[in-house]
Amino acid sequence: MEMLQTDIAVVGAGPIGLELAVALKRHGFDYLHFDARQIGYTVSWFAPFTRFFSSNERIAIAGVPLHTPDQSKASREEYLNYLRGVVELFDLQINTYEPVTGIKREGDGFLLTTNPAAGPRVCRARRVVLVTGGTDHPRRLNIPGEDLPHVSHYFQDPHPYFRKQLLVVGGKNSAVEAALRCHHAGAHVSLSYRGSELSAKSIKYWLLPEINGLIESGRIPAYFNTVPTRITPTEITLNPSTQTIPVDFVLLLIGYAQDNKLLRLAGVDLGGENEAPVFDERTMETNIPGLYVAGTAVGGTQDKYRIFIENCHVHVDRILAALTGEKPPAAPEPIARPES
Ligand code: NAP
Repeated sequence: MEMLQTDIAVVGAGPIGLELAVALKRHGFDYLHFDARQIGYTVSWFAPFTRFFSSNERIAIAGVPLHTPDQSKASREEYLNYLRGVVELFDLQINTYEPVTGIKREGDGFLLTTNPAAGPRVCRARRVVLVTGGTDHPRRLNIPGEDLPHVSHYFQDPHPYFRKQLLVVGGKNSAVEAALRCHHAGAHVSLSYRGSELSAKSIKYWLLPEINGLIESGRIPAYFNTVPTRITPTEITLNPSTQTIPVDFVLLLIGYAQDNKLLRLAGVDLGGENEAPVFDERTMETNIPGLYVAGTAVGGTQDKYRIFIENCHVHVDRILAALTGEKPPAAPEPIARPES
């Protein structure tokens, strides 16, 4: 089996993983970078032309300006172009489609096992940074019919739903944004939400009046205080009333969960309801010496989202300071409260 050797192994090539790679390269560190898929994978599964909630300056990385033609917030496409450009600009070497499947302590470092298409490899690293994100798997309802082909946990494109009956499940930004886009794309949309109303605290102010107006006028029927219990090829059953609704398609947009397998394998303590990794706020080092976390991975499985790309840039500076033995930087003053 091929054996790799490095000082620092970085796992994850989302925006913060890439920002860290640029910092390591600029400082001359010997590092190897892995991602289970392509760079920016989480962004790549957004629906086409989805715009970020954060403004461009907050999701720009490594000091490279992010501009859009009309100064609006970047779309999925614009941001993926931008990330590819950053990789090319700094000539970052990333072992994409090479999932890290194992990690264990060995001597004063770590032994990582990876599994690219060409066959497993082993990587010895003195230090490891997990920048693996927090939205690896969609939450599941665990109900009959959830895996039928007309049911999806991802909103990828409104077009398939044109003039079809679509039930969207969920009551926060993903569900509301998808319901609006599919409605405008000519789908017959209805919404099932377990809460009694859509919350102004959780939904973007530019989405809420429109969805509420469409619900009030009956153009998007909403089934509040309901949860799906069964899906068949043509119907969905909503409790508690056990009413059935005819559907052609179902979108289950009920949030995402972190895959914390690597954190667990490495022995990182996970705390709280979110099972977030425990780490030192000044250095980002976990309870396992030499193992750091960065990016939204620090939030575990978020229920109320507080950790976004925009407030994770400082993780890179902290890790860099820890690696170079410099004083950790003070937390930056937020420009304003988070926009995401
Ligand atoms: P979320 O904020 O976790 O919301 C999940 C929704 O599903 C909530 O309404 C929740 O109900 C409901 N839910 C959870 N478990 C359920 C269950 N077992 N049965 C029924 N309903 C259940 O997830 P999200 O809306 O996907 O948003 C995730 C993050 O992405 C947020 O930070 C959001 O702002 C962001 N986002 C960004 C964009 C963009 O940049 N354009 C678009 C969409 C989302 P409760 O309300 O009762 O908790």
